[in-house]
Amino acid sequence: MDFTFTDEQKMLRQTARQFTDAEIMPHIAKWDAEGGFDPAIWKKLADLGFLGVCIPEKYGGSGMDYNSLAILCEELERGDTAFRTAVSVHTGLNCMTLLQWGTEEQKHKYLVPQAKGEKIGAFGLTEPGAGSDVAALQTTAKRDGDDYVLNGQKTWISLCDTADHFLVFAYTDKSKKHHGISAFIVERTMPGFSSKAIKGKYGIRAGNTGELFFEDIRVPAANLLGEEGEGFKIAMSALDNGRFTVAAGAVGLIRACLEASVDYAKVRETFGVKIGGHQLVQQMIAKMEAGYQMSRLLVYRAGELKNRGVRNTRETSLAKWQACDFANQAADDAVQIHGAYGYSDEYPVARYLRNSKAPVIYEGTREIHTIMQAEYVLGERADKLLNRMLPAWRP
Ligand SMILES: Cc1cc2nc3c(=O)[nH]c(=O)nc-3n(C[C@H](O)[C@H](O)[C@H](O)COP(=O)(O)OP(=O)(O)OC[C@H]3O[C@@H](n4cnc5c(N)ncnc54)[C@H](O)[C@@H]3O)c2cc1C
Repeated sequence: MDFTFTDEQKMLRQTARQFTDAEIMPHIAKWDAEGGFDPAIWKKLADLGFLGVCIPEKYGGSGMDYNSLAILCEELERGDTAFRTAVSVHTGLNCMTLLQWGTEEQKHKYLVPQAKGEKIGAFGLTEPGAGSDVAALQTTAKRDGDDYVLNGQKTWISLCDTADHFLVFAYTDKSKKHHGISAFIVERTMPGFSSKAIKGKYGIRAGNTGELFFEDIRVPAANLLGEEGEGFKIAMSALDNGRFTVAAGAVGLIRACLEASVDYAKVRETFGVKIGGHQLVQQMIAKMEAGYQMSRLLVYRAGELKNRGVRNTRETSLAKWQACDFANQAADDAVQIHGAYGYSDEYPVARYLRNSKAPVIYEGTREIHTIMQAEYVLGERADKLLNRMLPAWRP
């Protein structure tokens, strides 16, 4: 596999890096402390085409490939996890799912304005009693004439107060378990919809996360994505794309930890030498470098499979699991290298550590990915997939 960047990818990396340096870095400490970023940044992201990478030009996107999306995610998360999370949710979980499963009418109505950044999309799967165990969800959608009537609640939804459109998963027939879940495109303006941000988050404080409430929302039947009962399959296919962006972002967080740690190790002195001269500090920096390089390779391999249209759930899961674990470790080590100064807002590494934790939890926890990888290797995954009716989907 050849992972040499094309000229277009090099230009994207340069533009995204400049954007991060100019638009995120100078403000991020304030946004993190205040709990939200300037909404004007959405327009800037849209103008640069960053909200529609991987979406064909005919649907309003930039028409670039998956590894271009990875490059963008790496550069944005080097600035802050909140911005990569926004792209993960809007592009990875929402736009790309509409591209894969939407009718032409749905694509023109919802995907085109999303890919252009005129509307923001989000993804509502998790509920108070249903995280890893998706089939435990309680939200229902009952057919009534030309509409479905949705009732229920979602929680921990990124962009809950920001998004215009939501992909919402609800039971149309609970007795069928995984086969009874359906996916709907819900608009914020539909009567009966409300949202509420969660306060006091440990990390990704500049990002908006919270609850969605559905009280007798009438969603037109035309907003059913795929067929009735295909919701679980659609959610899992969405996660194949979302996890890819999370993994790519983690690569950027490792790079941020490396840059901060190397800078600090070159100036801080103990026992008459720069701390970068101590082998135990070097060991932490070397582990970050190893994590950075290995994670990038896993991400680009998954991206290359996606570019070729090959099913990549296994490879994407591995990339997401490992990159997020490496990032979490790198952030912990970055704080350690900074000593007490790392334990304050004076340097960004405490924010990196707080931000590095959520990606180990969302889009499949560390434990869920561990189980998936073990099952693939033991040959048990195929049986499980067949039992749960998870036929192959194209990426
Ligand atoms: C900042 C943030 C943003 C998020 N954004 C979104 C979003 O936009 N949309 C959305 O739908 N969701 C979102 N989530 C929710 C996220 O996807 C869930 O938190 C995640 O799926 C885990 O679910 P849970 O929190 O209910 O944990 P649980 O599923 O209750 O798990 C609790 C613990 O038990 C472990 N566990 C569970 N099952 C097993 C098992 N079989 N074997 C071993 N261990 C197990 C888990 O690994 C975990 O350690 C977000 C979460 C966060 C923190």
